[in-house]
Amino acid sequence: MHYLLLVPVLVLLVGLATFAVVYIPKVKDKQNQPKPSKDQAKGLVGDKDQLTTIFSSIEDGLVLIDSKGMIVLFNLAAGIITGWDVNDTIGIGVDVVIKLSDDKGNLYAGSNYPFNKVFSTGQSVRENNDFLITRDNKRVSVSLSISPLKDGSGRVTGAVALIRNITQEKEQEGRLGDFISTASHEMRTPVAAIEGYLALALNEKVATIDFKARDYLEKAQEATRHLGTLFQDLLTSAKAEDGRLTSHPAVVEIGDMLKNLTEDLKFIAEKHGLETEFIVGSSSLVKTAAQQQGGERQISPLYYAYVDPDRLREVITNLYDNAIKYTTQGKITIGLTGDDEVVQFYVKDTGSGIPREDLPHLFQKFYRVDNSATRTIGGNGLGLFICRKIIELYSGRIWVESEVGKGSTFYINLPRLSTKKATDMLQQKDTSSVITPTTDNTLAIS
Ligand code: ADP
Repeated sequence: MHYLLLVPVLVLLVGLATFAVVYIPKVKDKQNQPKPSKDQAKGLVGDKDQLTTIFSSIEDGLVLIDSKGMIVLFNLAAGIITGWDVNDTIGIGVDVVIKLSDDKGNLYAGSNYPFNKVFSTGQSVRENNDFLITRDNKRVSVSLSISPLKDGSGRVTGAVALIRNITQEKEQEGRLGDFISTASHEMRTPVAAIEGYLALALNEKVATIDFKARDYLEKAQEATRHLGTLFQDLLTSAKAEDGRLTSHPAVVEIGDMLKNLTEDLKFIAEKHGLETEFIVGSSSLVKTAAQQQGGERQISPLYYAYVDPDRLREVITNLYDNAIKYTTQGKITIGLTGDDEVVQFYVKDTGSGIPREDLPHLFQKFYRVDNSATRTIGGNGLGLFICRKIIELYSGRIWVESEVGKGSTFYINLPRLSTKKATDMLQQKDTSSVITPTTDNTLAIS
């Protein structure tokens, strides 16, 4: 995607901006220190002019703020994107000029506001699904990359942001999504027919084939299954993108669901020589088959959420399959915890782990980590994208923490229903009625 090119540009600009904000004033102030030579001084003036020219020629919006969040530098492109006159913005709070919202139209404020995140964490923030509200209240799809500026002791002294209007890219993506959706839908039917005929050819009761032909047909069947999965994933991801993913939410007790699912999934893990456990809070409820037979039981809190159980199962199965795929030895843990507001569960493995630089991109469509290990493992890079879309459908959040060589943990947070609310909803007949998400992926809960 084009806007990924922002990253190297940003690195260059952070360097230049740091130079402009930190170095140039310092040079001016340090009168007690030896004066720069004529050549050096000329170089600095030249650099400053050059910087101004560079800033105003950049096609992406560039905004520099100081430690109080006031705008210090605002280039022409930023003015065009936001609808603000550049001169009106200098010295104004960035939150007044750069108003941002999520894809559901909720304005970011407080700790959610990306610039504040940079100050509180000292880390860069990159977003590709945000909207900017222009001065005349229009919504513009933007990609945003904000980096902290730090002094020698690591204190954040400001931030520099690159903003790009990606409305056209998003529209193009939408058209591509339509094409993929139609094409994969059309192709699924003949693939299903091929799978059916291959199954018949391999059925000894129906067809007689020799050993060699069986071997060929089994390989063809395996490849056809992959193709079928790919078309299904393409269709699901295209639907997820334009808000057509069907969802039949109901009140679900997540603990019960996870426990049963762990029971179902652990056989696949055991086949790969991996241990499985299910932990609620800090206690392990399902360990090995042997411990299970011992009848280990504990009382655990009830964690209710309003989700489509089939969709949630799809997500957890996907994370679990990945854990198996990328783990050669050790254990896969499914865990559940939470507080009054949130149900949190996770799938943890002791596998290969994921390099730090890949983590921010993992939930993007078609993204796969490119290394010798993953190249030999099949996949299409759609699984985590679909997981994210499903979890977002229920106003949840999915993220990963990982360390190369140690393993990965994929976390999911969902809004928790109090037991009272869940019981009330369960008593109402219509709680399981079909609720179709609106195009902006919000759910109408009656
Ligand atoms: P894929 O079909 O390639 O597995 P996913 O969207 O499910 O697609 O995952 C995207 C990428 O994330 C994978 O290609 C892999 O590089 C990485 N990944 C996902 N889960 C794990 C995991 N548990 N351990 C290590 N890497 C993982």
